[in-house]
Amino acid sequence: MNVQRRSFIAGLATLGIAPSVLSNDAPALVRHDVVVVGGGPAGVCAAIAAARHGADVLVVEQGNCLGGMATQGLVGPFMTCYDTTGEVQLIKGIFDEIVRRMVSIGGAIHPSEVRKGTSFAAWHTVGHDHLTPFEPEALKFVLDDICAESGVKVLYHATFTAPMMEGNRISGVEVFTKAGFKRIGASVVIDATGDGDVAFRAGAPCELGDTERACAMQPATMFFRIGNLPETAVEAVRAKYPQDNRAFMTLLKQARADGSWSIPRPHINIYRGVKSDEWFVNVSRLTGVDGTEPESLSNGETQGRRQVRETIAFLRKYVPGAQDLRLLSTASTLGIRETRHVQGEYVLGKDDILEGRRPSDSVVLCSNSIDLHGGAGRSGTLYIAVKNGTSYGVPYRSLVPQKVEGLLVAGRCVSATSVAAAAIRVVPPCMAMGQAAGTAAAMAVAGSVAPRGVDAAALVATLRADGVAI
Ligand SMILES: Cc1cc2nc3c(=O)[nH]c(=O)nc-3n(C[C@H](O)[C@H](O)[C@H](O)COP(=O)(O)OP(=O)(O)OC[C@H]3O[C@@H](n4cnc5c(N)ncnc54)[C@H](O)[C@@H]3O)c2cc1C
Repeated sequence: MNVQRRSFIAGLATLGIAPSVLSNDAPALVRHDVVVVGGGPAGVCAAIAAARHGADVLVVEQGNCLGGMATQGLVGPFMTCYDTTGEVQLIKGIFDEIVRRMVSIGGAIHPSEVRKGTSFAAWHTVGHDHLTPFEPEALKFVLDDICAESGVKVLYHATFTAPMMEGNRISGVEVFTKAGFKRIGASVVIDATGDGDVAFRAGAPCELGDTERACAMQPATMFFRIGNLPETAVEAVRAKYPQDNRAFMTLLKQARADGSWSIPRPHINIYRGVKSDEWFVNVSRLTGVDGTEPESLSNGETQGRRQVRETIAFLRKYVPGAQDLRLLSTASTLGIRETRHVQGEYVLGKDDILEGRRPSDSVVLCSNSIDLHGGAGRSGTLYIAVKNGTSYGVPYRSLVPQKVEGLLVAGRCVSATSVAAAAIRVVPPCMAMGQAAGTAAAMAVAGSVAPRGVDAAALVATLRADGVAI
């Protein structure tokens, strides 16, 4: 890219204008039926579903593995895939297939065997029944295998830079790779970047964060894994301080008083992994991070790792039996809970969730509670559990962005308000939304129709035939 062009793009960014222009030096076009941008939980399920329905599919992923936040972000366990009675598994389909494949290699415990109030659920009793503990490395292997078996092609180390537009229709994407820019044509593009990068640059309306709260975004978290911390040591602390309804609250108060705890969180979410002495730790709290802004993101990564070190020092000092714990790994990418919400044909709202609405074009049914970190003040979490027995639908219209043709969205960035997104952003619904988007994309290609024109009733019937519980 020449200097003039680079400063032109930088100038656009300064003005807040999305640089949806293509590079001049991109080599010749390759084409696929469906290009999925982002290989996280939503993108990978979209790709598998589209390929199984006959489409030629390419996933472009900026990282070196599939799984997104669940592998690179070390986020786990998978939140619930059951209804609130704990009796019915709502999310099945490709999600359940992935889980069972991990179970078969010793890399996960099936959610049917995991109950609320246990170490697997960080002892939470509300909204945390039937979670799925898993090994991120097992997930990487399983996703590689299922994609290969389904005929999905994957291009790693490829970052989306700009959409290829023909009027208001996206006809492909430009990505940046080790070999420079590449242009990839597509009949349908699925934006599964989590951040809505493609939809935003293609001109679909997007909201950044919660517009009712001055565009506040949920705080970010640097996940990490520790080993050699016996479950008995954590249980002993819980037994000693029965008044603590969350892990380590009394000890953290002491640590704050003696100046060794500065993280704005009064407890530690510590989830037992598949092995009894390994834990996934969700505690760091980085407010004010904008995951769409490079400098903010970079600062968040450094601050996140600082908070990891502080947490390890706390555990070693205050928890008897934790002196020899080992840091297994910090996430290779900061955990971003919220950025853009692409505005679609339907914007899923809080009432849809709490009233258990199931529109006729529902492509996902789930019962995940609203878990809005920062929603009760900068450090507090607004948690609204859905009523017992309630489940709600995510309509196909929430996957179809306004104003841009040839494009679907899936996962964290689908069309929902900030509060509603706080319920459906977890892994099982994201995988289910991906399966729906991929199936719809293949139907659009096969029928030579735009994704907006896909017959929702036929889509729902196809998903049902594929084992999706709707
Ligand atoms: C701190 C934190 C804790 C969480 N805890 C849990 C939990 O305990 N259980 C649970 O089920 N869920 C949890 N979640 C939610 C869940 O992990 C995510 O919301 C979910 O992974 C979203 O899936 P996705 O596929 O939409 O996006 P992501 O998982 O973010 O995947 C997006 C993929 O797109 C790629 N990508 C992004 N931009 C580009 C680009 N421009 N070009 C190419 N590739 C790109 C990324 O590298 C990534 O692989 C948590 C999330 C966070 C941040």
